[in-house]
Amino acid sequence: MNPADPWLAVARHAPLAILTDLDGTLIPFAAKPDEARPSPEVVGLLRALAALPGTLVAVVSGRPRDEMDRMFAEATGVWLVAEHGGWRRAEGAWQAPVPADASALDGLARSLEKVAEASKKALVERKSWSVGFHYRAVPRREKTGLLVAAQAVARDWLSANPAFEFLEGAELLEIRARNVRKSLAIPWVGERAGAGARLLALGDDLTDEDVFAALGPADESIIVGPLLRSTAARWRLSGPLEATAFLEWVREVRREAPTPPPPVLPVPVPAPPRGKRAARTPHRLLVVSNRLPSLRSPVSPEGERKKNVGGLVAALEPVLSRRGGLWLGWSGQTTPGEASAPVGVDDSSQPALAWIDLPQDAYEKYYNGFCNRSLWPVFHTFPARTRFADDEWESYERVNEAFAAAAGDLVDPTASVWIHDYHLLLMAAALRRRGHTGPLGLFLHVPFPALDLYSTIPWGEQLLDAMLEFDLVGFHTPGYVKNFREAVGALSPARLGDDAIEHRGRRIRARAFPIGIVPEGFQETPEPETAAEVAALLSAIAGTKLVLGVDRLDYTKGIPERLEAFERLLKQFPGWRGKVSMVQVSVPSRSDVPEYAEQRQRIETAVGRVNGEFGEAHWVPVRYLYRSYGRNQLSQLYRAADVALVTPLRDGMNLVAKEFIAAQGADNPGALLLSRFTGAAVELKDALLTNPYHIDGMARDLDRALRMPLEERQERHAKLMAAVSKTTAVSWAEDFLAALEACR
Ligand code: UDP
Repeated sequence: MNPADPWLAVARHAPLAILTDLDGTLIPFAAKPDEARPSPEVVGLLRALAALPGTLVAVVSGRPRDEMDRMFAEATGVWLVAEHGGWRRAEGAWQAPVPADASALDGLARSLEKVAEASKKALVERKSWSVGFHYRAVPRREKTGLLVAAQAVARDWLSANPAFEFLEGAELLEIRARNVRKSLAIPWVGERAGAGARLLALGDDLTDEDVFAALGPADESIIVGPLLRSTAARWRLSGPLEATAFLEWVREVRREAPTPPPPVLPVPVPAPPRGKRAARTPHRLLVVSNRLPSLRSPVSPEGERKKNVGGLVAALEPVLSRRGGLWLGWSGQTTPGEASAPVGVDDSSQPALAWIDLPQDAYEKYYNGFCNRSLWPVFHTFPARTRFADDEWESYERVNEAFAAAAGDLVDPTASVWIHDYHLLLMAAALRRRGHTGPLGLFLHVPFPALDLYSTIPWGEQLLDAMLEFDLVGFHTPGYVKNFREAVGALSPARLGDDAIEHRGRRIRARAFPIGIVPEGFQETPEPETAAEVAALLSAIAGTKLVLGVDRLDYTKGIPERLEAFERLLKQFPGWRGKVSMVQVSVPSRSDVPEYAEQRQRIETAVGRVNGEFGEAHWVPVRYLYRSYGRNQLSQLYRAADVALVTPLRDGMNLVAKEFIAAQGADNPGALLLSRFTGAAVELKDALLTNPYHIDGMARDLDRALRMPLEERQERHAKLMAAVSKTTAVSWAEDFLAALEACR
């Protein structure tokens, strides 16, 4: 079948009633509502359609009557519905379909005017049944503060005026009488259109959902613009230009002139994935991370931080199960379109999962771009590797909005939401703009840099401002908390109290919650079949001491520096030649980011150099494995190691250090050589701490670790094991959630 056929049937149907929204549907948004007007062509098109036999056209808008009158003065025959269904006009005078006393809104309008005075660009609009607070033109950095204040005023007022409700429009906060809705237009239009009429509805914002949902089975609904939320519409057109072009085609078809080929056709809104629900879920706790646990990560660019998500699953699964929480993340799928696909939910998995897809373009700019080439290097103190691009920042903003839209669709505005990591720093602000009032927590899994570095971020103030919309911000160490507070003190008007930051009448807690592991998970005996592979590797180095490195292949991990230190050891302490072997496991990561490909090259060159210089027929100094291992195999490797070299140049926490400790037997434990610049070094003070920037020093520390007497190793290990057992993955999640709930 020709894809145009069903649309030809719609376009030819008589009677046909076309209901269309205006702003965002037939005219693009403008900074001020009164600057946005339908072009003479659009007015002409609607008039021409309405003049055709068996055709009824109604513009169903949120605009007030006088504006509608002005805009459609030339559009004879076009019916008008103003103020979201609150007024309507066919041929004669305006009529109100529902009696409603909205005089109470005057007081609210006055209070909102006061809020708006803080910004010259905000606008309060008093309509018959509603009050609108327009913030489209407000500069971005003022927006959140203004909105939070406006929402607070509106919430107070609503609690005393239950006949009204809160409505989130496009860059508009509206409080409206509950019995006034756009769908009131449907029976009105339907009756007048006559028996057998089909309705065709076009709209773009949340107020249009009400219309889409009220349509009959023979009717058609088209959402116009990017798909940033779930919708009751069945079809989609990408913007106002396409919507206009489509209606022009409908006009041509109905004129019974030779039918032209359609310039553009609505595409189906993707069918909701299995388990998808249109209504909000009953979950009271939502966890959000960029990636979902691997159970729903079909596309994983080489296991990118998948293992970390695995670690997060271990931490979160018990608490999510107990509290009936839901986990939202990116599915790992990209779509060719320009915006995110709708949310899918799978309640049958453990934990329950919800996901969004990201457009390919956003993946490039948001994920590979702003997240991994801007925030990641700055937060890890690598200014020389950092670069900023406006379009990547914009993409970051858009993706955070899309995540917030999905979260807002999924849970009640009073639910607790726990957001993870640097990918989603703007999400609380976006959720607040959507009316979220429940506790919002952020845990940052990376370091928070010192002020001079943080200040290099062109949007640093905006990021901080958005972060202050959280109620609780968690870091791995007190040092990162200190850095964060310093940045807030220097770059934001917030007040630094002893136990909280005060901002816009709210209290924000910033605290350290060091993440842990599940120690027992690294103490299991491996299955024989998985054990064989590692056993073969170990037998190849039998008779030598094993120095082990396990990292994602990332420049923050300091792998080339570590190889250099090993090389220096062999030079300066020649007695170790032939007696020690280094195994470096490097898990492929972000290989589509150029810095990572370059790092891989550097490591491989260094391995070749050391082996070339020192290797002998019976001894390979460095064995380099560009791959990943499962937990059991890693435990086996950890246990066999005499020294773990955990020497990142900077690391938020570093779980490998903790896992290594957990895997050691108490009778003959290995030694841990740990970089001072890891979060783990704060708790693991009894490791041998080293400075990875100082190659000679690191070589000496390695020599010392290799020679560490059994008694000292046992002593250190007992203390380290106590530290690893003190804050585990599960206690970390429990502590954070308890603190978040306390913010309620
Ligand atoms: N990991 C793994 N297989 C490997 C290498 C590492 O599962 O072959 C896991 C490791 O067990 C640890 C995580 O990857 O849980 C690395 O976490 P870490 O905090 O050390 O570094 P990150 O990758 O988060 O920077």
